[in-house]
Amino acid sequence: MADWGKISSRGNVEDRRSMGPAVVGGISITGVILYMLVNYLTNGQVNIPLDELESIPVDQQQSQNTEIFDGEDDYEVFASTVLGSNNDMWVNILKNENKSYTPPKLVLFREATESGCGTATSQIGPHYCTLDHTIYLDETFFDKLVDQYGAKGGDVAEAYIISHEVGHHAQSELGITDVVMEKMQQNGNDANELSVKLELQADCFSGLWANSIRDIGVLSPGEISEAMDAAATVGDDRIQEKANGRINPENWTHGSSEQRVFWFTKGYESGSLSSCDTFNQY
Ligand SMILES: [Zn+2]
Repeated sequence: MADWGKISSRGNVEDRRSMGPAVVGGISITGVILYMLVNYLTNGQVNIPLDELESIPVDQQQSQNTEIFDGEDDYEVFASTVLGSNNDMWVNILKNENKSYTPPKLVLFREATESGCGTATSQIGPHYCTLDHTIYLDETFFDKLVDQYGAKGGDVAEAYIISHEVGHHAQSELGITDVVMEKMQQNGNDANELSVKLELQADCFSGLWANSIRDIGVLSPGEISEAMDAAATVGDDRIQEKANGRINPENWTHGSSEQRVFWFTKGYESGSLSSCDTFNQY
């Protein structure tokens, strides 16, 4: 367990876990249009990188939440601390780029909740909505990662994933997302490849964050391997193999296990934004 108490910063976390799942029908028009646009541009050939662009409406379960979250619990403090330390880093990086940084919001929810990109559901996994600059996280996802995908899990693994999502926000603040979306619109055939590059860059950004807290003694030796294990577990090849026993790189949207670990490690070891230029390397 990392020593999160060494980080005093806090991010903007909204806890919706005590609310029931969002009711179907609340899909935002913008979200639907964006989904249709990407589908149209790519003839439906591309798997939309769900964790950053769009949440697809799925059948909602109307089950009741059994746990009631009243006030701030340990998880909210943890998520807020990870977010806060990411924000500290990005404020400085953006300042060096002569840009301002507006911190994202993080919404904790269970099962389903409204987002600026439509209905955010647990099935999608943690994701970032570019339209409302918010990260959506049902932390029970991490149990699934351990139970179904064989990840080792742990708080550092969870922090890696949260930081990856903050990385998507940073891409948006840096203007990278807009440029990539435009390229995707110009040539739908490149959409999967561009998506992989965006994802690997977010992994590298997550590595930058791990580097930024390295010297204040939050992580004890060896804990960084938790993050690398999580990066490998969410590789497209690993997930495809688990899902249907076959690996098809054509459909990748996030990159292989090896690529994800490579880029996380690159960010972690270099600590420099320029090392995360996935669009010109690899
Ligand atoms: Zn991502």
